[in-house]
Amino acid sequence: MTDSKTCRICASQRTSPTIRFNDWQVHRCSDCGFRFAEDGQPIVYEDHYDEDYFAPLMQRDQMDKWSRIYADRLAFLRQNAPSDRLLEAGAGASTFALNAVDQGFQVTVADAAPWAVDFLSSHDGVTGQLVDLNQCDFPAGQFGAIHCSHVLEHLREPRQFLEQCLSTLQPGGVMYLSFPAYEGRVLGFRDGLYRLGLANHPYNYQAPDHLSYFDAPCIRATLEQAGFEVVRLRRIKFISVRDTAERMDDSGLLRKMVRLAATATSPISRRVGFHRDLEIIARRPREKSIPQVEPSARRAA
Ligand SMILES: [Zn+2]
Repeated sequence: MTDSKTCRICASQRTSPTIRFNDWQVHRCSDCGFRFAEDGQPIVYEDHYDEDYFAPLMQRDQMDKWSRIYADRLAFLRQNAPSDRLLEAGAGASTFALNAVDQGFQVTVADAAPWAVDFLSSHDGVTGQLVDLNQCDFPAGQFGAIHCSHVLEHLREPRQFLEQCLSTLQPGGVMYLSFPAYEGRVLGFRDGLYRLGLANHPYNYQAPDHLSYFDAPCIRATLEQAGFEVVRLRRIKFISVRDTAERMDDSGLLRKMVRLAATATSPISRRVGFHRDLEIIARRPREKSIPQVEPSARRAA
Protein backbone atom coordinates (compact mmCIF):
# COMPACT_ATOMS: atom_id res chain seq x y z
CA MET A 1 0.00 0.00 0.00
CA THR A 2 1.58 3.25 -1.12
CA ASP A 3 0.35 5.48 1.69
CA SER A 4 1.39 3.21 4.58
CA LYS A 5 3.85 4.80 6.99
CA THR A 6 6.45 3.29 9.27
CA CYS A 7 5.20 3.04 12.86
CA ARG A 8 7.31 5.29 15.07
CA ILE A 9 6.89 2.93 18.02
CA CYS A 10 7.46 -0.60 16.67
CA ALA A 11 8.83 0.22 13.18
CA SER A 12 6.15 -1.95 11.55
CA GLN A 13 5.06 -1.13 8.01
CA ARG A 14 1.60 -2.54 8.73
CA THR A 15 -0.02 0.85 9.26
CA SER A 16 -3.08 2.33 7.62
CA PRO A 17 -4.66 5.78 7.40
CA THR A 18 -7.73 6.28 9.60
CA ILE A 19 -8.99 9.83 9.51
CA ARG A 20 -7.91 13.12 8.00
CA PHE A 21 -8.33 16.41 9.83
CA ASN A 22 -6.69 19.86 9.79
CA ASP A 23 -4.61 18.77 6.77
CA TRP A 24 -3.04 16.01 8.84
CA GLN A 25 -3.53 12.31 8.22
CA VAL A 26 -3.88 10.02 11.24
CA HIS A 27 -2.45 6.50 10.82
CA ARG A 28 -2.83 3.41 12.99
CA CYS A 29 -0.33 0.60 13.41
CA SER A 30 -1.90 -2.87 13.21
CA ASP A 31 0.92 -4.42 15.20
CA CYS A 32 1.17 -2.18 18.29
CA GLY A 33 -2.00 -0.06 18.11
CA PHE A 34 -0.11 3.25 18.08
CA ARG A 35 -1.74 6.14 16.21
CA PHE A 36 0.17 9.06 14.78
CA ALA A 37 -0.38 12.11 12.58
CA GLU A 38 1.68 12.66 9.45
CA ASP A 39 2.27 15.01 6.56
CA GLY A 40 0.86 18.27 7.89
CA GLN A 41 2.58 21.57 8.52
CA PRO A 42 4.52 21.24 11.82
CA ILE A 43 4.41 24.02 14.38
CA VAL A 44 7.39 26.24 15.13
CA TYR A 45 7.97 25.78 18.86
CA GLU A 46 9.27 29.30 19.52
CA ASP A 47 6.25 30.89 17.83
CA HIS A 48 3.56 28.53 19.05
CA TYR A 49 4.53 27.96 22.68
CA ASP A 50 4.80 31.60 23.70
CA GLU A 51 3.60 33.56 26.71
CA ASP A 52 0.01 33.65 25.39
CA TYR A 53 -0.05 29.86 25.08
CA PHE A 54 1.08 29.37 28.68
CA ALA A 55 -0.95 32.15 30.34
CA PRO A 56 -4.19 30.15 30.88
CA LEU A 57 -2.22 27.12 32.08
CA MET A 58 -0.35 29.24 34.60
CA GLN A 59 -3.63 30.69 35.77
CA ARG A 60 -5.01 27.16 36.21
CA ASP A 61 -1.99 26.22 38.34
CA GLN A 62 -3.06 28.89 40.84
CA MET A 63 -6.29 27.01 41.62
CA ASP A 64 -6.42 25.08 44.90
CA LYS A 65 -7.36 21.93 43.02
CA TRP A 66 -4.12 22.00 41.00
CA SER A 67 -1.99 22.92 44.02
CA ARG A 68 -3.34 19.80 45.73
CA ILE A 69 -2.76 17.63 42.65
CA TYR A 70 0.83 18.83 42.39
CA ALA A 71 1.39 18.40 46.14
CA ASP A 72 0.18 14.78 45.96
CA ARG A 73 2.43 13.98 43.01
CA LEU A 74 5.43 15.59 44.67
CA ALA A 75 4.80 13.72 47.91
CA PHE A 76 4.68 10.48 45.96
CA LEU A 77 7.89 11.24 44.08
CA ARG A 78 9.59 12.35 47.29
CA GLN A 79 8.74 9.06 48.99
CA ASN A 80 9.70 6.84 46.08
CA ALA A 81 12.59 8.52 44.27
CA PRO A 82 16.12 7.43 45.18
CA SER A 83 17.37 11.04 45.13
CA ASP A 84 16.08 14.63 45.19
CA ARG A 85 17.12 15.39 41.60
CA LEU A 86 13.99 15.92 39.51
CA LEU A 87 13.67 16.35 35.76
CA GLU A 88 10.52 18.17 34.67
CA ALA A 89 10.43 17.02 31.05
CA GLY A 90 8.33 19.28 28.84
CA ALA A 91 7.88 21.64 31.76
CA GLY A 92 6.13 24.37 29.85
CA ALA A 93 5.65 27.20 32.31
CA SER A 94 3.92 25.00 34.87
CA THR A 95 4.42 25.97 38.47
CA PHE A 96 4.99 22.28 39.26
CA ALA A 97 8.72 22.90 38.98
CA LEU A 98 8.53 25.75 41.48
CA ASN A 99 6.42 23.67 43.87
CA ALA A 100 9.06 20.94 43.56
CA VAL A 101 11.79 23.38 44.62
CA ASP A 102 9.68 24.24 47.68
CA GLN A 103 9.52 20.52 48.48
CA GLY A 104 13.31 20.26 48.46
CA PHE A 105 13.95 18.95 44.95
CA GLN A 106 16.83 20.11 42.78
CA VAL A 107 14.89 20.75 39.59
CA THR A 108 15.96 20.69 35.95
CA VAL A 109 13.33 21.86 33.47
CA ALA A 110 13.67 20.73 29.86
CA ASP A 111 11.48 22.21 27.16
CA ALA A 112 11.62 23.39 23.55
CA ALA A 113 9.85 26.66 24.34
CA PRO A 114 12.41 29.44 25.05
CA TRP A 115 9.89 31.63 26.88
CA ALA A 116 8.96 28.85 29.33
CA VAL A 117 12.57 27.80 29.99
CA ASP A 118 13.59 31.42 30.61
CA PHE A 119 10.62 31.97 32.91
CA LEU A 120 11.18 28.89 35.08
CA SER A 121 14.97 29.06 35.22
CA SER A 122 14.79 32.65 36.46
CA HIS A 123 13.67 31.13 39.78
CA ASP A 124 16.11 29.94 42.43
CA GLY A 125 16.68 26.20 42.48
CA VAL A 126 15.66 25.63 38.84
CA THR A 127 18.10 24.80 36.05
CA GLY A 128 16.78 25.31 32.52
CA GLN A 129 17.55 23.28 29.39
CA LEU A 130 16.26 24.44 26.03
CA VAL A 131 15.90 21.15 24.18
CA ASP A 132 13.76 19.44 21.56
CA LEU A 133 12.51 16.37 23.44
CA ASN A 134 12.27 14.46 20.13
CA GLN A 135 16.04 14.38 20.00
CA CYS A 136 17.20 14.97 23.55
CA ASP A 137 20.38 13.48 24.94
CA PHE A 138 20.19 13.60 28.73
CA PRO A 139 23.24 12.44 30.72
CA ALA A 140 22.88 8.85 31.99
CA GLY A 141 21.79 8.15 35.58
CA GLN A 142 21.23 11.79 36.56
CA PHE A 143 17.77 11.94 38.08
CA GLY A 144 15.86 10.25 40.88
CA ALA A 145 12.51 11.32 39.44
CA ILE A 146 10.94 12.53 36.21
CA HIS A 147 7.66 14.38 35.95
CA CYS A 148 6.19 14.46 32.45
CA SER A 149 2.62 15.70 32.22
CA HIS A 150 0.85 16.16 28.90
CA VAL A 151 4.00 16.07 26.82
CA LEU A 152 4.12 12.68 25.11
CA GLU A 153 1.24 13.47 22.76
CA HIS A 154 3.16 16.51 21.45
CA LEU A 155 6.22 14.52 20.42
CA ARG A 156 6.94 13.10 17.00
CA GLU A 157 9.41 10.61 18.45
CA PRO A 158 7.91 9.52 21.79
CA ARG A 159 9.77 6.21 21.90
CA GLN A 160 13.18 7.82 21.63
CA PHE A 161 12.16 10.28 24.31
CA LEU A 162 11.06 7.48 26.68
CA GLU A 163 14.32 5.63 26.09
CA GLN A 164 16.16 8.81 27.07
CA CYS A 165 14.03 9.10 30.20
CA LEU A 166 14.94 5.55 31.23
CA SER A 167 18.61 6.14 30.65
CA THR A 168 18.74 9.41 32.59
CA LEU A 169 16.95 7.92 35.61
CA GLN A 170 19.06 6.45 38.37
CA PRO A 171 18.41 2.75 39.12
CA GLY A 172 15.14 2.64 41.06
CA GLY A 173 14.20 6.10 39.73
CA VAL A 174 10.52 6.84 39.14
CA MET A 175 8.68 8.60 36.34
CA TYR A 176 5.24 10.16 36.52
CA LEU A 177 3.59 10.27 33.11
CA SER A 178 0.16 11.54 32.09
CA PHE A 179 -1.38 12.35 28.73
CA PRO A 180 -4.69 12.12 26.82
CA ALA A 181 -5.95 8.57 26.26
CA TYR A 182 -6.71 7.55 22.70
CA GLU A 183 -8.74 4.38 23.17
CA GLY A 184 -9.90 2.66 20.00
CA ARG A 185 -13.58 2.31 20.92
CA VAL A 186 -13.89 6.00 21.80
CA LEU A 187 -12.04 7.11 18.68
CA GLY A 188 -14.13 4.81 16.50
CA PHE A 189 -17.35 6.20 17.97
CA ARG A 190 -16.36 9.85 17.81
CA ASP A 191 -14.75 9.61 14.36
CA GLY A 192 -17.89 7.83 13.17
CA LEU A 193 -20.04 10.75 14.38
CA TYR A 194 -17.71 13.14 12.51
CA ARG A 195 -17.97 11.13 9.30
CA LEU A 196 -21.76 11.19 9.64
CA GLY A 197 -21.72 14.97 10.18
CA LEU A 198 -23.01 14.70 13.75
CA ALA A 199 -19.82 16.11 15.23
CA ASN A 200 -17.82 19.13 14.07
CA HIS A 201 -14.52 17.40 14.83
CA PRO A 202 -13.24 13.86 14.97
CA TYR A 203 -11.74 12.80 18.31
CA ASN A 204 -9.37 15.20 20.04
CA TYR A 205 -6.32 14.58 17.78
CA GLN A 206 -5.32 18.27 17.81
CA ALA A 207 -2.62 18.07 15.15
CA PRO A 208 -0.22 19.79 14.77
CA ASP A 209 -0.10 20.35 18.54
CA HIS A 210 -0.61 16.65 19.23
CA LEU A 211 1.04 14.08 16.96
CA SER A 212 1.24 10.83 18.95
CA TYR A 213 -1.77 8.93 20.26
CA PHE A 214 -1.39 6.06 22.75
CA ASP A 215 -3.99 3.79 24.25
CA ALA A 216 -3.28 1.96 27.52
CA PRO A 217 -1.98 -1.36 26.07
CA CYS A 218 0.29 0.46 23.61
CA ILE A 219 1.96 2.73 26.19
CA ARG A 220 2.36 -0.18 28.62
CA ALA A 221 4.07 -2.32 25.97
CA THR A 222 6.21 0.62 24.81
CA LEU A 223 7.42 1.36 28.34
CA GLU A 224 8.12 -2.30 29.10
CA GLN A 225 9.99 -2.81 25.84
CA ALA A 226 12.09 0.25 26.60
CA GLY A 227 13.05 -1.37 29.94
CA PHE A 228 10.68 0.34 32.41
CA GLU A 229 8.69 -1.49 35.04
CA VAL A 230 5.11 -0.18 34.96
CA VAL A 231 4.18 0.24 38.61
CA ARG A 232 0.71 1.70 38.05
CA LEU A 233 -1.42 2.54 35.05
CA ARG A 234 -4.87 4.01 35.47
CA ARG A 235 -7.48 5.84 33.49
CA ILE A 236 -8.51 9.22 34.93
CA LYS A 237 -10.83 12.18 34.16
CA PHE A 238 -14.06 10.32 33.44
CA ILE A 239 -16.55 12.07 31.17
CA SER A 240 -20.03 10.64 30.75
CA VAL A 241 -22.23 10.42 27.65
CA ARG A 242 -24.53 12.92 29.36
CA ASP A 243 -21.64 15.39 29.93
CA THR A 244 -20.66 15.03 26.27
CA ALA A 245 -24.23 15.59 25.06
CA GLU A 246 -24.58 18.68 27.23
CA ARG A 247 -21.49 20.16 25.64
CA MET A 248 -22.81 19.70 22.10
CA ASP A 249 -24.12 22.84 20.47
CA ASP A 250 -27.85 22.99 19.83
CA SER A 251 -27.72 23.34 16.06
CA GLY A 252 -29.73 20.79 14.10
CA LEU A 253 -32.60 18.55 15.00
CA LEU A 254 -30.46 15.45 15.41
CA ARG A 255 -28.18 17.08 17.98
CA LYS A 256 -31.19 18.33 19.93
CA MET A 257 -32.57 14.80 19.92
CA VAL A 258 -29.26 13.39 21.15
CA ARG A 259 -29.23 15.90 24.02
CA LEU A 260 -32.84 15.12 24.94
CA ALA A 261 -32.16 11.39 24.84
CA ALA A 262 -29.07 11.76 27.07
CA THR A 263 -31.07 13.82 29.58
CA ALA A 264 -34.03 11.44 29.51
CA THR A 265 -31.78 8.45 30.17
CA SER A 266 -29.73 10.31 32.76
CA PRO A 267 -29.36 7.46 35.31
CA ILE A 268 -27.59 5.45 32.61
CA SER A 269 -26.01 8.20 30.49
CA ARG A 270 -24.30 9.63 33.58
CA ARG A 271 -22.51 6.33 34.18
CA VAL A 272 -21.61 5.41 30.62
CA GLY A 273 -18.65 7.25 29.16
CA PHE A 274 -14.89 7.21 28.91
CA HIS A 275 -11.74 8.43 30.64
CA ARG A 276 -9.91 11.29 28.96
CA ASP A 277 -6.43 10.73 30.38
CA LEU A 278 -3.98 8.00 31.31
CA GLU A 279 -1.78 8.30 34.36
CA ILE A 280 1.26 6.07 34.77
CA ILE A 281 3.96 5.47 37.32
CA ALA A 282 6.94 3.69 35.79
CA ARG A 283 10.24 2.80 37.37
CA ARG A 284 13.73 2.09 36.16
CA PRO A 285 14.45 -1.35 37.64
CA ARG A 286 17.26 -1.41 40.19
CA GLU A 287 18.99 -4.50 38.89
CA LYS A 288 18.07 -5.06 35.27
CA SER A 289 20.38 -3.61 32.66
CA ILE A 290 18.82 -1.28 30.13
CA PRO A 291 18.44 -2.67 26.61
CA GLN A 292 21.13 -1.00 24.52
CA VAL A 293 19.50 -0.81 21.11
CA GLU A 294 20.20 2.08 18.82
CA PRO A 295 16.96 3.44 17.32
CA SER A 296 18.42 3.09 13.83
CA ALA A 297 19.33 -0.57 14.46
CA ARG A 298 15.88 -1.33 15.81
CA ARG A 299 14.21 0.20 12.81
CA ALA A 300 16.37 -1.74 10.39
CA ALA A 301 15.68 -5.03 12.19
ZN1 LIG B 1 3.54 -0.11 15.76
